[in-house]
Amino acid sequence: MSFVTHLECSETGKKYEAGKLYNLSEAGKPLLVRYDLKALAKTLSKEELASRHYGLWRYREFLPVEKDENCITLGEVISPIIRVPRILKKIGASGELIVKDESRQPTSSFKARGLGLAVSMAKEFGVKHVAIPTNGNAGGALAAYATRAGLKATVLCPDDTPEVNVNEAAFVGAHVFRVNGYINHCGEIVAEGRDKVGWFDVSTMKEPYRVEGKKTLGIELAEQLGWELPDAIIFPTGGGTMPIGVWKAFDELEEMGWIGPKRPKMIVAQAAGCAPIVEAWKEGAEKARKWEEAHTKAAGIRVPAAIADFLILRTIRASGGFALAIPEEEIFDTWREVAREEGLLLCPEGAAAFAAYKTALRDGRIAPGSRVMMFSCATGLKYPMEAKTGYIDRTKPIDYSVFG
Ligand SMILES: *Cc1c(COP(=O)(O)O)cnc(C)c1O
Repeated sequence: MSFVTHLECSETGKKYEAGKLYNLSEAGKPLLVRYDLKALAKTLSKEELASRHYGLWRYREFLPVEKDENCITLGEVISPIIRVPRILKKIGASGELIVKDESRQPTSSFKARGLGLAVSMAKEFGVKHVAIPTNGNAGGALAAYATRAGLKATVLCPDDTPEVNVNEAAFVGAHVFRVNGYINHCGEIVAEGRDKVGWFDVSTMKEPYRVEGKKTLGIELAEQLGWELPDAIIFPTGGGTMPIGVWKAFDELEEMGWIGPKRPKMIVAQAAGCAPIVEAWKEGAEKARKWEEAHTKAAGIRVPAAIADFLILRTIRASGGFALAIPEEEIFDTWREVAREEGLLLCPEGAAAFAAYKTALRDGRIAPGSRVMMFSCATGLKYPMEAKTGYIDRTKPIDYSVFG
């Protein structure tokens, strides 16, 4: 069973009956799931939760799936939180930076949380075929969970999507197509195919359940920090399921009486080559303009237009946070720096969040002594890495001085 009461249009507040398959609301905006949180709080205690060892589904009561048999799993984990003391010392930071490392999830990215939930719900509603536009990680996750659930999956990605992502999605059973365009062009084809093919569209924020999976990140980080939220959280942001989901988790936890009203500053990091949310935030706009000629090798945040732009912007403002665009070179310099100094391989998107921390600390927008959390959302191994290596010809006399 679940504690779902209804769904709600994120723009108009109009209520929608639970137990039905939905994409967007009639207003063309994302739908959000609402729960009977008072009843939930009576059923579940923090102690009971602490005694569970299981990954994402340990938050079962916070999630919308009705039947246990529809809870699809590939072994999700509670992702570790990792400190980076050496770099903090180097930059003279007096506070704390905690990296939440989502590279350990199935398919090696946090997309597993959202798509695990979306596929579980699609299965519950009897969907047979799911489709998604992706820059890489979402396609791999959808493919894996759909195959696990016995659903057919179609994945559309821009034609410059890295080989490794394309192959991964196809290898675990999806039909994969490269498209000569951006992710929003892929999204248009997926939307069009709803009537023409009959598949279910699981695009970011265009169905209500991916964000519920991402919500578990917010519950999990609160639990990991002893139900004391940090002063700020930095999100590498494309479509924005992460800040929206995490914010939703905090609201629900407060309504249950598990946390107080204190909220972290919600900080959005984007690449300078694709920063529609940052521009809108600077202008004080409610919505973002579509970004023309988007470019960044941090593909997870190369999203020229986000349907939930207004929700991301509201979240930033409600929290007293801000949005930062990070130049491409700085993203990749930071990526290399964190690997070299700390032995921690972030994803480049995570490196953008890390760089945002350094910038905001320097310009005073993050106060000295602050406790800050940031997300690294995926493995760095799927991105091209230039690295210097040596070569030994073992058939010749070996020059041992090279090892010094
Ligand atoms: C998808 C993705 C993001 C952005 O997440 P959104 O929820 O779309 O904002 C960031 N980093 C990586 C590695 C991703 O795959």
